[in-house]
Amino acid sequence: MPAYEYKCLKCNENFIIYISLKEKNEEILKCPKCGSTNVQRIYSPFHAVTSKKS
Ligand SMILES: [Zn+2]
Repeated sequence: MPAYEYKCLKCNENFIIYISLKEKNEEILKCPKCGSTNVQRIYSPFHAVTSKKS
């Protein structure tokens, strides 16, 4: 499942969204922290495989 990184422009929270291809609908993207839909896709120059937990 592809993962996309987004940044909330309201609270500056970075978050990862997992979207299956047929469910891809960027209109429903919301910040998990503040609920804002004012989010921006982050295009990482490379795939970071850092799995930071907590
Ligand atoms: Zn937010």
